Amino acid sequence: MNIHEYQGKEVLKSYGVAVPNGKVAFTVEEAVAAAEELKSSVAVVKAQIHAGGRGKAGGVKVAKNLDEVRLFAGEILGKTLVTHQTGPEGKLVKRLLIEEGCEIVKEYYIGLVVDRGTGRVVLMGSEEGGTEIEEVAALHPEKIFKEIIDPAVGLQMFQARRLAYHISIPNELIGKSVKFMQALYSAFMDKDCSIAEINPLVITADGNVLALDAKLNFDSNALFRHKDIQALRDLDEENEKEIEASKYDLSYIALDGNIGCMVNGAGLAMATMDIIKYYGGEPANFLDVGGGATAEKVTEAFKIILSDAKVKGILVNIFGGIMRCDVIASGIVEAASQLGLTKPLVVRLEGTNVELGKQILSGSGLNIVSADSMADGARKIVSLVQ
Ligand code: ADP
Ligand code: MG
Repeated sequence: MNIHEYQGKEVLKSYGVAVPNGKVAFTVEEAVAAAEELKSSVAVVKAQIHAGGRGKAGGVKVAKNLDEVRLFAGEILGKTLVTHQTGPEGKLVKRLLIEEGCEIVKEYYIGLVVDRGTGRVVLMGSEEGGTEIEEVAALHPEKIFKEIIDPAVGLQMFQARRLAYHISIPNELIGKSVKFMQALYSAFMDKDCSIAEINPLVITADGNVLALDAKLNFDSNALFRHKDIQALRDLDEENEKEIEASKYDLSYIALDGNIGCMVNGAGLAMATMDIIKYYGGEPANFLDVGGGATAEKVTEAFKIILSDAKVKGILVNIFGGIMRCDVIASGIVEAASQLGLTKPLVVRLEGTNVELGKQILSGSGLNIVSADSMADGARKIVSLVQ
């Protein structure tokens, strides 16, 4: 789960990570009031969306007085911001962070991630701050330094110090940087983060080490033990269909193609997407209805797929193991007649009670194309949507 920058900064601050003073604003008036409260000669107006690259897209503006705060807040609020992370459709800005402006001497990058290779949390740093870390990794891999953290002892002072030296933090600020990294690590571990990215970490003219940006990502499997973090969820930032799917315990991820897929089991769902692509089609979604799907779940899954205007046809690929094929077939018939299905539908069933399932489908009078194998099903749906 992702949260906004202002929320991330509040979480980090509670662990002693240094961040600039700031406040969230939902309206222009609130923005001006927040800036007034800061009593800082320079205030920064920052769009709060779950995507980076706001600076380059005009979503971060430095205001030298309250009139400018009013002007920039008015410009940014309600604007659809298109950054390299939002996709071409962009994201509507509904919240702003009004923050104290700081005099930046230099920008760095600091990040904590779960590294699957080593099976450990890794601290990464670079003196190429402000730029995407992926870009630094591609162009200047020698400028990224890493410290692998032993979970039994946590981030050690010598490791944080070594990283600070490697990324050329000035000597007099090494102590503050070490404290910063240790506080960041505590927050990361305590809150079960999967990513904590500070880009940029800055050193300021008045000798401070501050997080100017904060991207925190949480392990959703651990959210049940962090009610405070769960409360920060912003549904506006999530895909509507994905939210709907999560209510019915369906694993759904929206994609860009035009073939809706309904499958049981994540592995089979991946294989189904692969085979659609193999035959020249593009899946519109990943959808796993789960091993013990009920007719009701199948109906909900159908509704979600059909509410996607991009979907030109549907492929159902179900293996009846725990789940019987006749139950699935009834669910499909129920959903198709309830929703008045007009798009091509190809169904491949296999497993327990498959014959009975096929009878239900063919006896339904609905226009359902039956397939004998995955390949057959994929070929049929690809040709039907073309
Ligand atoms: P994004 O990564 O989405 O572009 P950032 O929060 O990193 O957004 O801001 C982009 C740039 O704006 C930063 O690299 C920094 O140079 C500048 N900036 C952001 N916040 C402040 C601030 N409080 N004071 C001064 N400059 C800032
Ligand atoms: Mg940034």
